[in-house]
Amino acid sequence: MQAIQEIYPQLTEQKKIAITMHQKPDADAMGSTLGLYHFLIQFGHTVQVISPTNWARWLDWMPNVDRVMDYELHKIKADAFLDSADLLFCLDFNHFGRTKLLASKLEAITCEKILIDHHQEPDVVSFDYGISSTAKSSTCEMVYDFIVGSGHRDKINLFISECLYAGVVADTGSFRFSTTHASVHHMVACLKEQGLEHTKVHEALYDNFLENRLRFLGHVLSNRMEVLYEFNTALVYITKADLLRYEIKTGDTEGLVNYPLSIQGVKLVGFVVDRDEERKWSFRSKGAFDCNTFARKYFEGGGHYNAAGGRDSEGIERTVTKFKQAINENKNLLQ
Ligand code: 5GP
Ligand code: MN
Repeated sequence: MQAIQEIYPQLTEQKKIAITMHQKPDADAMGSTLGLYHFLIQFGHTVQVISPTNWARWLDWMPNVDRVMDYELHKIKADAFLDSADLLFCLDFNHFGRTKLLASKLEAITCEKILIDHHQEPDVVSFDYGISSTAKSSTCEMVYDFIVGSGHRDKINLFISECLYAGVVADTGSFRFSTTHASVHHMVACLKEQGLEHTKVHEALYDNFLENRLRFLGHVLSNRMEVLYEFNTALVYITKADLLRYEIKTGDTEGLVNYPLSIQGVKLVGFVVDRDEERKWSFRSKGAFDCNTFARKYFEGGGHYNAAGGRDSEGIERTVTKFKQAINENKNLLQ
């Protein structure tokens, strides 16, 4: 993988450019891809953002999100675009496996592929150009660096500012995680100078749910959370019946994994949702417990040191038992 700077000369020649992100995109994935979209269209490129799957409705405020193609709904059109693209930007994921049904297509196409990502252990051989840095707060911050680094800071407009700010807020836990370096605050200062109304973005992200989601949260915290004090760990499991009863949609479970971390002494949270196709795990830790290694070892996953995800094809009860065995094996690391 060549350094990201090597792609800068191509920005000013008109190209057909596809931009994609991980499945079930979050604010960082959608914000970074749309932020990059609003930058690239200013050069006259033909740009298409493709999401491997659908996304949470609380991302629907993002400028031009209505032009994003959901691969599961528009496979033929998206494939045709990808077949004739000159460049493919891959944002906020570290290997094609994170793009579900889109993965085999992304592997097969021969255009130049560019990675911009902050997850651990990127599959660098699959990309021609790129940058991967786990020190970065978010992919949105990396897109900001990309724009500034290419010498086009003047192209940062209000749309770009809103998209990039959303991802930074989400991935830093509203500026509290350790990756919130001074560079993040410098970036926000620059976005504010473009007229960013940050309160509007916070409200769009966090005050935009339906009543059922808050009732669901109450149910989950009362009835689906176990605190395993011996292991300084909390476990939350959500059944299919819960999802049906509270009419839970994509994105409604996002962020719930963080609540048990507010309990004194809790160092690790395991949070599992019984989805149709798999049991989807989220892991969050505080301090010295490596969620990335844990997710890789036990649940076919990965991510960051303090936040990772994984999956299991076993049923909900078996995967919960597996988690309890896994924390028992890691007891020393959780003290
Ligand atoms: P979340 O728990 O919010 O779904 O994900 C936490 C972090 O881990 C995110 O950065 C996400 O991209 C990453 N992640 C989630 N699930 C997986 C997975 O199955 N595999 C890998 N490699 N990373 C994941
Ligand atoms: Mn991210």
